[in-house]
Amino acid sequence: MPAKPAWPPKSTPRLFVEQPLELGATLNIAGNSAHYLLGVMRLKEGAPVKLFDNISGEYLATVARISKRDLDLTVESKLRARETTPDLWIAQALVKKDRFDWIAEKACELGVARFVPVLTARCVVDKVKDDRLRAHMIEAAEQCERTALPYISPLTKLEALLKDWPAERTLYFCDERGGAPLLEAISPGPAAILIGPEGGFTDGENASIRARPNARPVSLGPRILRADTAAISAISIWMAKNGDWSA
Ligand code: SAH
Repeated sequence: MPAKPAWPPKSTPRLFVEQPLELGATLNIAGNSAHYLLGVMRLKEGAPVKLFDNISGEYLATVARISKRDLDLTVESKLRARETTPDLWIAQALVKKDRFDWIAEKACELGVARFVPVLTARCVVDKVKDDRLRAHMIEAAEQCERTALPYISPLTKLEALLKDWPAERTLYFCDERGGAPLLEAISPGPAAILIGPEGGFTDGENASIRARPNARPVSLGPRILRADTAAISAISIWMAKNGDWSA
């Protein structure tokens, strides 16, 4: 007897939706998502779609109705609860748009809980579009079977970030001028990684960061890395040592 084909099939499209999901709900999908499901994936009535809402988890839905520009999906069953992410934030100084988007995307894939864009003296950019960052994270989460998205904090000046820094959260300050090797410095508990802009931190900023009682200056080795490489390396090291990579 042939093996029963897996349901839903591997090719089932996966979509993030803004509205909270629950069993039996009918969702109307329009805009880009509808174009993707109808125009690109060519779904017909009855086809399965996986949905997640970043709140309650992942669900299996089927296409209930199709029209030219939109479609209705009915939520049929729950596949997974929302995953828990390790308690790691990344505080990233603004860098040029493409690299910043890339860092946001990778931070999402790697399971960072919160993404904090930071404005520092040497930032060559002074604005960031939250919705663009979020779109990059959503795309990564859709592809990588994630059920959680990082929370995106509003753009924060370094001074304000340090002033209001939560006492219980260790701030691993990645400093190419020297510090303890990150792998050795990591201790258990809530954490954040701070990465500077292309031009690094000024002497004054460096001193203010180091003056925070729960800041730990750390090194990522003898070579200066670009901010994006530094961010992804530091997140990976933390995830491997204190996150859930060995769980
Ligand atoms: N100030 C330098 C480079 C900054 S690199 C210059 O202009 O030449 C951008 C950021 O990446 C730094 O602020 C730091 O947070 C991080 N970084 C890069 N290489 C690092 C290393 N070897 N160790 C720790 N942090 C590093």
